[in-house]
Amino acid sequence: MVPIFSWKRTVPRTMVNRFSVLVSACEILVEGLAIFVALPRVYPEASRSYWLNVLLGLFLFANTLGNFIMTIGVDSSSGSVHLPSILKPGWNYCHRCQKNSPPRSYHCNECGLCVLKRDHHCVFMGCCIGYANQRYYLMCIMHICILTIYANYLNMDLAVKCISENFNLLTLIASFTPVLAWIYGVTQPVSFFIAFQSITCLYCFLIFTVLFLYHLHIVLRGQTTHEFRRLDDRSYDLGWMQNIRDVLGTRWYLVWISPLITSPLPGDGVHFKSESLCLEEVKDL
Ligand SMILES: [Zn+2]
Ligand SMILES: [Zn+2]
Repeated sequence: MVPIFSWKRTVPRTMVNRFSVLVSACEILVEGLAIFVALPRVYPEASRSYWLNVLLGLFLFANTLGNFIMTIGVDSSSGSVHLPSILKPGWNYCHRCQKNSPPRSYHCNECGLCVLKRDHHCVFMGCCIGYANQRYYLMCIMHICILTIYANYLNMDLAVKCISENFNLLTLIASFTPVLAWIYGVTQPVSFFIAFQSITCLYCFLIFTVLFLYHLHIVLRGQTTHEFRRLDDRSYDLGWMQNIRDVLGTRWYLVWISPLITSPLPGDGVHFKSESLCLEEVKDL
């Protein structure tokens, strides 16, 4: 199955989801800015190290933003595939969509449609993560983790300088709440901007590292978040290598390079091989 991208889908249906997308896009821009503001301070501008780090920064920023856009724009709904009119065993009927819904597909009230192999509705992306866009979601949060580690590394000299030169309770509070510190006049606009981008990177690093490890663990077990949390159902676990292929596609080892690299998914999002089915096939042989 090849993912279908549409720019129309990048504007979510509800105002809450539109706001989530806007906040997340601003976060990514702040993280990217944190790198390019810090680079001339860390490396001499005409040096080879400077340009190598500019390339690294661009690579991480482009991958984060590209995978973010693809996660929202790729259609994971059941409307992207042809569904039979007869209700098959293991299928459900969705009264809201008035269509048959295949196994592992669930209706999302926020998105207003049935999502193939629905994993969860992501508050940061304002959309559902399902069969067709899970690859981009995983790569997006992985690149956010690396981007924030890198931005924190580049801004470390400022943090160390701040702690060693003017450390007191007020600067400590101002570092963790830069907006409040700026409003109450504790910090100047420039210090506010540096503190704001540093603290955004630190918060994002903590949140997205936990999120990435959690989702990677679930993917390796061949489950969706729903199957992991509510049912602990591992009937679709085909071994970690096949589970990775089912999410990242047949060229899974290349997807970290760019969201534009094609990596077709082995299935169709409607029919899934289960562990018991594979055992039956082996017996037949
Ligand atoms: Zn539905
Ligand atoms: Zn949704």
